[in-house]
Amino acid sequence: MAEISPTSIESLLEQVEKPARYIGGEVGSVVKDGAALRVVLSYPDVYEIGTANQAVQIIYSLMNSREGVWAERAYCPWPDMAELMRRDQVPLFSLESWEPVRAADLWGITLQHELTYTNFLEMMDLAGVPLRAGDRGEDDPLVFAGGPCASNPHPVSAFFDFFIIGDGEAVAPQVLEAVMAAGAGRSARLEAVAGIEGIYIPGVTGQVTRAVVPELPVEPPARPIVPSMHAVHDRATVEIKRGCTRGCRFCLAGSWYRPVRERDSSAVCDMVSSLVAGTGYDEVSLSSLSATDHSAIRDILASLSQKHPGLTVSLPSLRVDPDSLKLLNLTSSRKGSITLAPEAGSQRLRDVINKQVTEEDIERALTEAFEMGSTTVKLYFMIGLPTETMDDLQGIIDIAATARRVGRQVARSPGRVRVNVSVSSFVPKPHTPFQWGGMNGRAELEEKQEFLRREMPRKQIKLSMHDIEPSLVEGAIARGGDETAGAIEAAWRAGARFDAWTERFDFAAWEEGFSAIGSSVEEEAVRSFPLDGELPWDDIDSRVGKGFLAEEWEKAVRGEVTPDCRWAECPQCEVCDGEIEMRVERS
Ligand code: SF4
Repeated sequence: MAEISPTSIESLLEQVEKPARYIGGEVGSVVKDGAALRVVLSYPDVYEIGTANQAVQIIYSLMNSREGVWAERAYCPWPDMAELMRRDQVPLFSLESWEPVRAADLWGITLQHELTYTNFLEMMDLAGVPLRAGDRGEDDPLVFAGGPCASNPHPVSAFFDFFIIGDGEAVAPQVLEAVMAAGAGRSARLEAVAGIEGIYIPGVTGQVTRAVVPELPVEPPARPIVPSMHAVHDRATVEIKRGCTRGCRFCLAGSWYRPVRERDSSAVCDMVSSLVAGTGYDEVSLSSLSATDHSAIRDILASLSQKHPGLTVSLPSLRVDPDSLKLLNLTSSRKGSITLAPEAGSQRLRDVINKQVTEEDIERALTEAFEMGSTTVKLYFMIGLPTETMDDLQGIIDIAATARRVGRQVARSPGRVRVNVSVSSFVPKPHTPFQWGGMNGRAELEEKQEFLRREMPRKQIKLSMHDIEPSLVEGAIARGGDETAGAIEAAWRAGARFDAWTERFDFAAWEEGFSAIGSSVEEEAVRSFPLDGELPWDDIDSRVGKGFLAEEWEKAVRGEVTPDCRWAECPQCEVCDGEIEMRVERS
């Protein structure tokens, strides 16, 4: 790679708020000599957010385990650093070598959330890599994207040379092989990756089927990177299963990561032991869309508490049922605050979204939480869900009041009981049964928020509502087409950066962005698509049948539920095909 003088970077570090974001050299980071292929991996947000991302860590470890390949990392410089880099003409550099990202062979960027999109444009600009793939020359890296938002690559297809659609572990090794075999030259390399299953090249490949690893690997990972400054999740993480069988109709992850593949319980315990030994962490998170659904979760928790008595084990996604909560008694995690997500206030609306949680489940879970010693219960809801009425919103208020009543009845210190109600705006996502319907517009969402603000009792209940404008932007991008790229680029040129950061979000820049393509944020967000028409993302085959999604949409409108396919008859979503099947340790 070309070089940047270390002193020029060091002089910038003296002038920024948090220099540790750019230093690298963390425990677990990899430095190699003489690698034939140089890769940079990025999460398009600031270091302390990006280092917590598991996808980058998994692919970093996988790529660095291959001889001749060196994967490094780069995150989005905070505005203070970006300004200095532009002033002193220091290009975006990787953390490991402090060499320019532009000189890498491959640059992979994970797309986890639409509100990080302007950050990858900022990174490309700082790197000196043309924003549009069509403007890149032979000296530029092949820039690719992956992650759940690549499920609809169209809004950002102009900016990437190719996309990995699906599980990165299934595709990345083949990409490395193909690129190394193709030798130098962007065009030859791009041609070489075109035939790999799960690779989408805008304008070149036809329909692409999501790549899936049939089972999660059992061998312990290489040492993960221990951040050099406080990260959002400062603990080790082990993914205990991928996929979810619950079938919530609003959830992209629940649809995109099908089928369920559980990691073997003994492998989970070995991984935890290896991570604890390699990093010194005293907390581990067992991650999954619904961690307590792992069929051997009791054995995992019992074994971990026996092997690592001082280790704090956290289960980040608890189901709304007392049995899930009881599992916390097998861990040494703090129980002062427990989070539950009923998502919708009324039984009718929970049936619409297929969140199979009854009022009784909610009350029993609340009772269990307060009996276990919690003083604070956090309740998550969405507003703007399809078919929602004011009666459904009243249900949110009723559940909050129930939580307070139960807390006062059973908590050890009734006076200290707190109920925190968090309300976000529903954003429809591609590849879900709700992909056809538009989201609520600003006026409707404001009216609903106002109702909750007015009617929610205040004593011991705290209501917080997410800002509407970032959700509208997310909605405008999520189901966009190729033309949306023009809006994203124009918003970035108008100053949009770090859109997921409340204090940085600039709605005016986004309005300017969408007006550049003759539209508006709201017009795009509320758009609905005919059930029998084409969708911009139809060329991405998620493996879940479009017919199944349409049936689910119709059942939602009728308020009918579809049972969990782990316990009930398979409703034929079409993902399982003999080669790829649900994998559970205990049935
Ligand atoms: S094919 Fe059936 S069993 Fe497999 S994930 Fe879909 S609904 Fe579940």
